[in-house]
Amino acid sequence: MATRERVLSGMRPSGRLHLGNYLGALANWVKLQDDYDCFYFSADWHVLTDRNDVSDVPQATIEMAADWLGAGLDPQRSTLFIQSLIPEHAELHLLFSMVTPVSWLERVPTYRERIEQQEIASPSYGLLGYPLLQSADILMYKARYVPVGIDQAPHVELTREVARRFNNAFGPVFPEPDVKLTEIPKVPGTDGRKMSKSYGNDIELADSTETIRAKVRPMVTDPARKRRSDPGNPEICPVFDLHKIFTPAADREACATGCRTAGIGCLDCKEVLLKHMLPPLGAIRERRQTYAEKPDVIREVLVEGSRRARVIAQHTMTEVRAAVKLLP
Ligand code: SF4
Repeated sequence: MATRERVLSGMRPSGRLHLGNYLGALANWVKLQDDYDCFYFSADWHVLTDRNDVSDVPQATIEMAADWLGAGLDPQRSTLFIQSLIPEHAELHLLFSMVTPVSWLERVPTYRERIEQQEIASPSYGLLGYPLLQSADILMYKARYVPVGIDQAPHVELTREVARRFNNAFGPVFPEPDVKLTEIPKVPGTDGRKMSKSYGNDIELADSTETIRAKVRPMVTDPARKRRSDPGNPEICPVFDLHKIFTPAADREACATGCRTAGIGCLDCKEVLLKHMLPPLGAIRERRQTYAEKPDVIREVLVEGSRRARVIAQHTMTEVRAAVKLLP
């Protein structure tokens, strides 16, 4: 059998995942398992670029991995690992930092945005160097593709530049990875803004049927539909954005027509959505629950995956150290 091309991606361990995380990344990770040699990791060192108290990270990692497994990541087919269990990433980051101009890092859009949005007066080196650590994460495994949304594409471009720069300085060690752009559907939260844990408007993969119902029923709709008799516009309604994801075309069209003609009320429309969104989410939740009840099994999956990943990392670092020629 031909060797499968390798895909690598990571997530920060921020606890339970919501529908936006699932539809924006995880569902795609699950699909990629069919065609690629997939490496997925918990980017726990990256959390330290935000804050120094990371005592919640071990539990958050278990919760996140329960969602991974519940959504269908298969540890027999994919290597699931924890970044900080593989210290070789730090060594490669250090060596990359020797060939990377500071100006390359300063122009990364996410760095500039975070400094401006969070008004960080004195950014740490870790924050500046975080895309370089990402480059080390990717190049360590010589990944062919990195599945990311458009906002992360500049990080992969930086990774390609770093690979070229290293190869020019020390010899050809690293292939240049390509972006595999992930189509990210619009996933509104219950208040109509982008779904986000920090807004408190999210629907978690772990949520029970009752909780999802309780979140969807009062969800924000087209503000022009104040009364049942007012016609609405599905194209500006966040509930309809969820219909586009979950509801088959015939039922979706019926809802759109009913909305425009005031033939149905918003609660009727939400019931149709719930009919279609609850079964797939229920299947994920049930599978997730069987893992969540056995955190030791999740830990074993991550430790075993990290052991497998580390073998590759050690092999890469042997090549890297030979190329750098630092040792006698
Ligand atoms: S009927 Fe449906 S699409 Fe129309 S405003 Fe209400 S919830 Fe939104």
